[in-house]
Amino acid sequence: MSDNLKIVCSFCGKDKQDTNILIAGTAAHICDDCIEQAHEIIKEDTNDEIFSREDFTLLKPKEIKEHLDHFVIGQDDAKKVMSVAVYNHYKRILQPDTTNEDIEIEKSNIIMVGRTGTGKTLIAKSIAKLLKVPFCIADATVLTEAGYVGEDVESILTRLLQSADYDVEKAKRGIVFIDEIDKVARKSDNPSITRDVSGEGVQQAMLKLLEGTIVNVPPQGGRKHPDQKMIALETKDILFISGGAFDGIEQHISARMNTQSIGFRTENKDVIEKDNLLQYVSPQDLKSFGLIPELIGRMPIVTHLNPLDRAALKKILTEPRNALIKQYQKLFEMDNATLTFDKKAIDIIVDKAMEFKLGARGLRSICEAIMLDAMFEFPSDKSKRELRITSDYVKSQLTKLSFTRLKAA
Ligand code: ADP
Repeated sequence: MSDNLKIVCSFCGKDKQDTNILIAGTAAHICDDCIEQAHEIIKEDTNDEIFSREDFTLLKPKEIKEHLDHFVIGQDDAKKVMSVAVYNHYKRILQPDTTNEDIEIEKSNIIMVGRTGTGKTLIAKSIAKLLKVPFCIADATVLTEAGYVGEDVESILTRLLQSADYDVEKAKRGIVFIDEIDKVARKSDNPSITRDVSGEGVQQAMLKLLEGTIVNVPPQGGRKHPDQKMIALETKDILFISGGAFDGIEQHISARMNTQSIGFRTENKDVIEKDNLLQYVSPQDLKSFGLIPELIGRMPIVTHLNPLDRAALKKILTEPRNALIKQYQKLFEMDNATLTFDKKAIDIIVDKAMEFKLGARGLRSICEAIMLDAMFEFPSDKSKRELRITSDYVKSQLTKLSFTRLKAA
């Protein structure tokens, strides 16, 4: 064989006899070493792509939690559980098709248990905002089974589509927050007693949605537009986070824990914090409360939110990036005025919020009541450029208003 007909690898120039395998193409050859190397390059490239496909950047659980810390006071357990669940959920979505592989990562929808106004919606909303995915809130209490008066379960997806500007691809990986999931709990322990339109029926109707199915969504929602063209939306990659106060679930938790601790009572007794039993909530307790096992199975991650104490409410009022006090100060700034709050004034607001038992929700209505007069008058009165909210001011504003109105706000 003459020298110029010598067969070599077109990539590294290695002679055929120095390779294990040399594969011939139409006008080139490649040796086994170069194939290995090329394979590594492809692997690295696609891995990078997995985590930043299109405009989506998947943050690590620690980064998600750090972000939440800027907006959500306390609730460390919930923030940690949510960060991991959300990370795993999007990792699952972004991985290449694994239908033929043995290990299939299951969907991780979430249930958050905690009193009203403790940050359930806030956590879900903040995560969606951070990841720049569409987000919507659905109220479980208005849902019914198809065919009954009320909103069909599918209507949840109309809202998600709207929040994604009707971009189906985006909506497919959005986050849906289902509020007041506890209100669709089965009222009676006996499932066969009657057909339960508002409770178990809705839970049943939600099953497919949570698990993954293709739903024909009315883009305008409702039944008011019978002629609208449906949009098909697959729900397998939508993350469903549901929240509820589950009033009275403590009884079920405590009953379960007491039965479990028989036999090793001494070890367990000291450890259980009786005044915050929610932290021990388990899927079993949700079942005792009245959620059907199939629904619980489709929302396998359960987390809890702690009741907010005085210190937490005070922080919420002043510390987060968009703390209420900061918001009012910004509103005043926009009118070239300065607004300050005395420490004692803040204490009174917090005391009132504790009294109302509406968690941080109470703070907002109390502040609105206190600030109303000032916000009404300041913009028109150029002579006043400073407002200091003192404890006396707070007291006088609060006495002006009927508490019933405040509580209803
Ligand atoms: P829920 O638990 O009922 O879903 P939300 O998350 O809607 O309560 O909270 C209502 C409002 O109260 C929020 O918009 C937020 O301003 C405030 N808030 C509640 N919990 C917290 C918290 N842990 N940290 C900061 N703000 C909070």
